[in-house]
Amino acid sequence: MNNWSGFYKKTRDERLNVIKEANILDNEHFDLLNNNKILDFETANNMVENVVGTFSLPFSVVPNFVVDKKSYLVPMVTEEPSVVAACSNAGKIVERCGGFSTTIHDRKMIGHIALYDINDVEATCNLILDNKELLLKTANEAYPSIVKRGGGACDLEVKVLTEDNTSFVVAYLIVDTLEAMGANMLNTMLEAVKISLESLTGGVALMAILSNYATRSLVSSRCEIPFSNLGDNGEYLAKRIELASKFAQADTYRAATHNKGIFNGIDSIVIASGNDWRAIEASCQSWAARDGKYKGLSTWTCDLEKQVLIGELTLPMPVASVGGSIGINPSVKVVRAMLGNPDAKTLASIIVSVGLAQNLAALRALVGDGIQKGHMKLHAKSLAILAGATTDILDEVVEKLRAEKHMNLATAKEIVSTYKK
Ligand code: NDP
Repeated sequence: MNNWSGFYKKTRDERLNVIKEANILDNEHFDLLNNNKILDFETANNMVENVVGTFSLPFSVVPNFVVDKKSYLVPMVTEEPSVVAACSNAGKIVERCGGFSTTIHDRKMIGHIALYDINDVEATCNLILDNKELLLKTANEAYPSIVKRGGGACDLEVKVLTEDNTSFVVAYLIVDTLEAMGANMLNTMLEAVKISLESLTGGVALMAILSNYATRSLVSSRCEIPFSNLGDNGEYLAKRIELASKFAQADTYRAATHNKGIFNGIDSIVIASGNDWRAIEASCQSWAARDGKYKGLSTWTCDLEKQVLIGELTLPMPVASVGGSIGINPSVKVVRAMLGNPDAKTLASIIVSVGLAQNLAALRALVGDGIQKGHMKLHAKSLAILAGATTDILDEVVEKLRAEKHMNLATAKEIVSTYKK
């Protein structure tokens, strides 16, 4: 039996011991974690341009996070206080109700080629569709290794879009990128198809590029929480969470913050997993505006008959288990090992569930006590550290700071200075 309880109160050594005893990591990955092995300069210097160093962020874990009946130790990389605690808290509530269950709707990427200077756009669309098989063959010949692995270009769609008296014929290439996110894969295929399309249609290609609006990579996560699991006033709280969900559909001002809360969790695990978090943000933020209005991404409803609160979150989640910098960064290797080296679909399921957990924690606090109660405690800690409080005096400084009327850096510095006399 592993001792995860009170994990947050343990020292780093104690936390590492719990992880070791749980046999989650083999010796190689445990040593990387234990030695806090991070990206070395030489590797970093080969990854991007003008490198002058490496940059660190806190690396935390959330234990007992249950997705599709499997318990995970979820890695999170974030600088924001309270994100990890909130995910842990909500994860625990959902774990007691059977965990999150997920559905992968599809796992394909879309890229497009925009053509202009076309006389008869309708006829051009038909011409492109008539040559679909040939164009797919061109795409696959441009990147044969993905076809050998069992993936590749599988469909092509066409649309006419008009903006300010300019018409574009846009060809959308749909590709099964298997375990990769597929940006480079698609871009290579699209450039080859672009040349064929120009000679086929006589139009001029404006660009050929992957789209981050990954509507063919949707993943849903769901949880059902009996009202009684939300505390003494569970039904009241559940109804208010349902109202908060409606409010985030109605008001874009609220939707932006509602979704930011979801991304507190999602970005933390996406960054930890070595995936391109800008791509995931772009995907999901555009999905939030799919009806022409930016809305909250999750929904919460009460089933009064069953006395349960039902949470649902569907997002495009084209994360990868290979490619990009995933195999390069030692911290990412540890993260992947921690999660049991998940394939792309499993990783996506865990990530969307983390988003739903993060949203539950935020809404529960917001419609309950408000978020400042928990936040201010963590804020006090950040202020104390900023003011120079060392570990030996940190807890005392935080306690004194919280008792002050004005909790700010100046007050924190004053308190810290009393220890230096
Ligand atoms: P890669 O270019 O790294 O391609 C994936 C690699 O994984 C290929 O070399 C492929 O090998 C290998 N691979 C091994 N096993 C598998 C498998 N089972 N399934 C699929 N591939 C496998 O990465 P992506 O094409 O995925 O592109 C992602 C990168 O592109 C990220 O770093 C991202 O930041 C960046 N990017 C993102 C853009 C955007 O989001 N708009 C734009 C441009 C770049 P093989 O070649 O032998 O098939």
